[in-house]
Amino acid sequence: MTTVRNYEGLAQRVEGLPPPASHQILGDVDGFPVYCVRVSTDASLPVVYVNGGTHGDEPAGVEAALVFLEAHSERWLDRVQFDVVPCLNPYGYVHNTRLNGQEMDINWAYKRNDVPEIQLIRDLVCDRKFMAIVDFHEDWESPGFYMYEQFRGLDPPGQIVVRRVSEVCPLNRNSQIEQEVAKNGVIYPNMESPKRRKGEGIPIGLFQEGYTDYLVTLETPSAKEMEVRVQAHITALETILDTHCRT
Ligand SMILES: [Zn+2]
Repeated sequence: MTTVRNYEGLAQRVEGLPPPASHQILGDVDGFPVYCVRVSTDASLPVVYVNGGTHGDEPAGVEAALVFLEAHSERWLDRVQFDVVPCLNPYGYVHNTRLNGQEMDINWAYKRNDVPEIQLIRDLVCDRKFMAIVDFHEDWESPGFYMYEQFRGLDPPGQIVVRRVSEVCPLNRNSQIEQEVAKNGVIYPNMESPKRRKGEGIPIGLFQEGYTDYLVTLETPSAKEMEVRVQAHITALETILDTHCRT
């Protein structure tokens, strides 16, 4: 398969992050290291888990995770710590494919035991509880930004998030997105859909199994310029941190 992107560049950026960032390699998949970057000045603070690159043809999520680490994360370190996996699917990222090296959509394979990327996530989250999980994705068909929001026991900030994102990127304001009811670009997923009931999606599985009470999946419109999509992801994440992580 044709190589489209260079993983070396990503590796150099991750390994070049200065303290208080530190990286670990969760494992190797298809010869590529999967990185997790911890940014922390106080190990007792709650952790926000940011994930990018589950689908290899959604590069703005990877870029946003890297830019966030390079330039934006320090502002919140008196309140939270970050665990950032900038690129969960290096094979897909390098070859610009949605699927991993097994030709599997790892976002929908959470219940399987034979997917190495899923195993790395299971090991990362094991016995932990995250203040929030934010998953960066893109959508080729959407005219604008939208997000899935799942929460329990809290007032969800999604509507504030989309209002702020609308200042940097158009929203998908359709009343139905991906067969789900949406309001101003926020989808409150129907947990009764068969796939969800089974908890197959990675973020869904993490929510249903109690690893967090606040989970969002951000979707940027691939047809827009990279810069706009990266800015949309970062604005959304920063708004979540400003509102939800204000303790
Ligand atoms: Zn995706």
